[in-house]
Amino acid sequence: MIILKLGGSVITRKDSTEPEVDHANLDRIAGEIAENKSKALVIVHGAGSFGHPFAKKYSIGSTIKNDDDFKEKKKGFCLTQSWVKKLNTMVCDKLREKGIFAVSIQPSSFLLTKNKRIYSGDLQLIKKYVEMGFVPVIYGDVVLDTDESIKTAVLSGDQIIKYLAENLRAERVILGSDVDGIYTKNPKKYQDAQFISVVSSLEDLELIEGASAVDVTGGMGGKLKELLILAQNGIESEIINANKSNNINKALKGKKGIGTIIK
Ligand code: ADP
Repeated sequence: MIILKLGGSVITRKDSTEPEVDHANLDRIAGEIAENKSKALVIVHGAGSFGHPFAKKYSIGSTIKNDDDFKEKKKGFCLTQSWVKKLNTMVCDKLREKGIFAVSIQPSSFLLTKNKRIYSGDLQLIKKYVEMGFVPVIYGDVVLDTDESIKTAVLSGDQIIKYLAENLRAERVILGSDVDGIYTKNPKKYQDAQFISVVSSLEDLELIEGASAVDVTGGMGGKLKELLILAQNGIESEIINANKSNNINKALKGKKGIGTIIK
């Protein structure tokens, strides 16, 4: 089984303050996935501008101050859940248009976190869908959290990737983002950032650039942490540039080394 992540930075205009799909990218990528229809596949996509602006505005996942604050957070939870679901519908519609048997899987309806980490969920249904030749499409969402001080949390597509890959024992984990892979520092900010083809620990980066090598405020730090835990558990992953035409197609066909391998 292959687990493919479509980054929010790829399928949405992530910098936009309003939810906005990158239709050209979504169309092209759905076409590349359709060229690999025979593969057992689970797709995970990020929320991009359909999730982050709302989750941030309502501080989902931060400590609840009082009853009014909890009411506001619940409002934000519903709003975020609704917008990321709209994005998921658009992704599934596009995949279906290209002939893929895409089925939508909503994290907030079956996953619970404990202090922001997934701790309960039943993956039987996802397994069954894959066995039957469907392509489950799951995504970054808001979920209930058992920690009484926060009660709700943002669940990233990257954490879902780790959870699914471990529990479904994926043979291949591919993450499509908007950069060629991992660099010594954010390549969008620093022209002298160096590309790293294989990463095995955060120290690898620290040796090269010092403790601040990974921009933890950006998405890559969190992503890398999830993927390194996965690597420790014996599952290799690769971050590739999904903005570049045909990269996803090639990766799905089995080509390795297009981007950064985490192992
Ligand atoms: P996605 O939405 O594709 O899952 P994110 O936007 O969360 O991904 O993270 C990708 C972004 O992380 C890149 O666009 C890049 O600007 C940023 N970034 C920060 N530090 C690094 C780094 N060391 N190497 C690569 N990208 C980095």
